[in-house]
Amino acid sequence: MARIVMKFGGTSVADLDRIRNVAARVKREVEAGHQVAVVVSAMSGVTNQLVKWCQDLSALHDAREYDTVVATGEQVTTGLTAIALQAIGVDARSWQGWQVPIITDQAHGKARVDRIDGAALIERMEQGQVPVVAGFQGIDPKRNRITTLGRGGSDLSAVAIAAAVKADRCDIYTDVDGIYTTDPRIVPRARKLERISYEEMLELASVGAKVLQTRSVELAMKQRVRVQVLSSFEDKPGSLVVDEDEIVEQPVVSGIAYSRDDAKITLRRVPDRPGVAAAVFGALAKANVNVDMIVQNIGADGSTDMTFTIGKVDLARAQDVLEKARGELGYEALLADPDVTKISVVGIGMRSHAGVATTMFKALSEKGINIQVISTSEIKVSVLVSADYTELAVRALHTAYGLDAPA
Ligand code: ADP
Ligand code: ASP
Ligand code: MG
Repeated sequence: MARIVMKFGGTSVADLDRIRNVAARVKREVEAGHQVAVVVSAMSGVTNQLVKWCQDLSALHDAREYDTVVATGEQVTTGLTAIALQAIGVDARSWQGWQVPIITDQAHGKARVDRIDGAALIERMEQGQVPVVAGFQGIDPKRNRITTLGRGGSDLSAVAIAAAVKADRCDIYTDVDGIYTTDPRIVPRARKLERISYEEMLELASVGAKVLQTRSVELAMKQRVRVQVLSSFEDKPGSLVVDEDEIVEQPVVSGIAYSRDDAKITLRRVPDRPGVAAAVFGALAKANVNVDMIVQNIGADGSTDMTFTIGKVDLARAQDVLEKARGELGYEALLADPDVTKISVVGIGMRSHAGVATTMFKALSEKGINIQVISTSEIKVSVLVSADYTELAVRALHTAYGLDAPA
């Protein structure tokens, strides 16, 4: 007998038939003698609609009210999944984030999980009941308000609950049958990875591979939760996220990811003096805007251009903050470009191999794709390109690093 957390993403609970399918899968595990907790996302498309409603009313909407709205999608699917389970004779009960409770900080829209007491869930599981927990939701106990864990946050809910109830496995059911060398929807010749290390998955997720949310991988790595990604529609083995030393063959580049969620800001002619970067990024940090890539060149005539990327969702807020601080910062113009994509190649093998970036630059130049910003880390190289070239660039790089599956 094992204790399992089964998480179902938006497409897996997209309509009543799919919810019935989820219930049938859960029943199979229960009948095999396992203790099961289920975590569900909102029906696919629902969270996007909820976010859009907030944005349409006000680009600078209140973050607490945003969470009040966007957390509702998961409430619907917990109830429906519990009903579907009960309908086929499985004892089940829905749980909202605040009922568990999943305690978070106050960073609305991207809250961090502080702690989860798994005792109540364990007690129910031991009685043979299946808790159906809302993904994505938490509660900030200080203000007693609902929080959400950032887009894709149900993966984090699942891993955090798996850690809290000491589950043997955390199975992430989704609309692909595993983790691939890149998004199989963009590159049909992407290869499925039987295993991938926590480190590489973390890096891939952090640069846009949506198959697992970044923080969920981070937490799984820290708490040593065994995560498996598998299809909710087909009975096939999935992909396992494991320790580096459990992987036998280690290619230099193991995956490629892209993110369309970034926007580029350029501040033209910023005064080139000490303290300016601190003032710019300090103002953004205070407004809870995360900055990713940054470039600044050597200044001529006492000023310089500063370019950086932030999340597209934060663009209105960032522009607002920077425009208000213009007097203090003293730049000449602010240029915003949301039509960019960040493309990254990731691999642990980069630690010991030179020339990885060169292969990337060459492959992109052969396709006539201009690179706007470059950044690197120990096991990753990222470039920012025009969004029009996303597919072309990802496919070219997938081929250039020899990742294509045999035709
Ligand atoms: P869910 O709603 O189940 O959480 P997501 O849409 O968040 O599903 O994540 C699954 C999607 O991740 C897939 O449909 C696929 O397009 C995308 N994806 C991106 N990179 C990868 C990758 N390397 N391997 C598999 N899927 C990927
Ligand atoms: N429903 C949330 C979202 O779409 C959380 C999730 O699906 O993981 O971001
Ligand atoms: Mg997801």
